[in-house]
Amino acid sequence: MMTDIQIARQAVKLPIAEVAAGLGLSPADILPYGHDKAKITHAAIAALQGRAPGRLVLVTAINPTPAGEGKTTTTVGLGDALNRIGKRTTICIREASLGPNFGMKGGAAGGGRAQIVPMEDMNLHFTGDFHAITSAHNLLAAMIDNHIYWGNELNIDSRRIAWRRVMDMNDRALRDVALGLGGVANGFPRQSGFDITVASEVMAILCLARDLADLQDRLGRIVIGYTRDRTPITARDLQADGAMTVLLKDALQPNLVQTLENNPALVHGGPFGNIAHGCNSVIATRAALAMSDYVVTEAGFGADLGAEKFLDIKCRMAGLTPSVAVLVATIRALKMNGGTARADLGHQDAAAVTRGCANLGRHIENLHGFGLPVVVALNHFDGDSPAEIAALQDCCAAHGVKAILARHWAEGGAGAEDLAREVTALVEGNSVDFHKLYPDTMPLWQKIETICTRIYRAAHAEAAPGVREQLARWEEAGHAKMPVCIAKTQYSFTTDPAIRGAPEGHIIPVREVRLNAGAGFVVAICGEIMTMPGLPSRPAAQTITLDAEGQVEGLF
Ligand code: ADP
Ligand code: MG
Repeated sequence: MMTDIQIARQAVKLPIAEVAAGLGLSPADILPYGHDKAKITHAAIAALQGRAPGRLVLVTAINPTPAGEGKTTTTVGLGDALNRIGKRTTICIREASLGPNFGMKGGAAGGGRAQIVPMEDMNLHFTGDFHAITSAHNLLAAMIDNHIYWGNELNIDSRRIAWRRVMDMNDRALRDVALGLGGVANGFPRQSGFDITVASEVMAILCLARDLADLQDRLGRIVIGYTRDRTPITARDLQADGAMTVLLKDALQPNLVQTLENNPALVHGGPFGNIAHGCNSVIATRAALAMSDYVVTEAGFGADLGAEKFLDIKCRMAGLTPSVAVLVATIRALKMNGGTARADLGHQDAAAVTRGCANLGRHIENLHGFGLPVVVALNHFDGDSPAEIAALQDCCAAHGVKAILARHWAEGGAGAEDLAREVTALVEGNSVDFHKLYPDTMPLWQKIETICTRIYRAAHAEAAPGVREQLARWEEAGHAKMPVCIAKTQYSFTTDPAIRGAPEGHIIPVREVRLNAGAGFVVAICGEIMTMPGLPSRPAAQTITLDAEGQVEGLF
């Protein structure tokens, strides 16, 4: 079997203007970045206003395990399959973060015969959006220290600055740094640090903004820190919002690329799935819906984190109504959820699949709770046995949903046609009764408790000292209607990554809360959350190189 990059290299790509034409976009509507990538202009996006939207298909998954689930691969394969059965379908996924590619992460463009191309570009600098986000974020950081240097008219308390710096590289040495050392000319020393770019609030803002005006408005609302008497200071107070918008004006335009089967894909934005909402931009999703019958999109991590945030944050803010949820599972990941060690995944074990199905069943129930029809996509791996597949199908039948075997990784869109037909049957045969988990008006702490008890099935959430007082202060300051973004491990319904399956009755400790006033949500930090990853002992960077023809080697 060829590697992902070998398959991607054999792709016969259409010129990007032809892909755009398939969406009804003229050459003037796109800004080509070379031959196989383009941005869709702000004017073209604005002209789509008022068009009846197509159907939105959410791809989500069971809790991730090291065995892999293949959400992006399934998103791409399902998109190709829907196009094959005659539905004009656009795929919407996130851009890749540069830093983790040099560590050990796989690519972000799908896999096997279900990929988006050009995958090398997509996994590296792409169209420069993340560099623009890094620049805009760090401009604000520079303006904060500069303001203090020149007299600190706003009375910023340098101990209460919440705005750190960002970089799109895994560099643990930058997690905590001392700024302003070296004497009077270099400013006032203070402690700070770096996060990875995808963890920046600017990333979340770019992904939730409706247009340039909304982008600037949200940037202006960013709370960078507080005065001594706890008055919030915003980016607008520092007059940074205009220049930040200038740096982001191109990045806000969605990127058009194509699948191996020449179907359109919008790849735009990439917020962390933990301290942010983990899905591609609202602008891309809305544009795709206006230009297609179906849009297939992916939410990060398992359905407990990814789908919940997609539904309660993105859909709430953008007024989107999904039509169906596709829950990706693999036999291997189910076995791991059923207690099988990674080294034993090669052994057939239908009983372990049945045990692992407790995790799958929990996600099905949760998605049904949002009023969405559900289909389980069994992403087929070589070595899945008929008995194991039957065990999964029995479990799904007990929850009243179908499990469809999908072979898009090996066969491309043709291998996922059964899945595509089930998706269209669910979409066209149902009137969706989509409802969010909680109303805007629910108090912030109660929103946190609702997610913890109803989705994670905890007994209750437990606030660290000061957390509830902080939430009450934000409610008084006018932020009461915000949704809540829970930052916790993606591996478990609990805050302990080692507890797989379907635990219940646990306690979710809320260590800290953060206000993302620009993005428009409150983050509740539960457990240890890493916002600047490190590299492993043998990083992938050691094997990434150019071959004699100038092609990238070692990228998966
Ligand atoms: P996710 O989006 O859930 O993180 P991806 O779709 O990016 O997962 O897939 C992760 C990796 O697993 C990719 O390298 C992909 O090639 C591989 N993969 C996905 N599905 C299969 C499959 N059915 N068989 C073998 N490898 C697969
Ligand atoms: Mg993915």
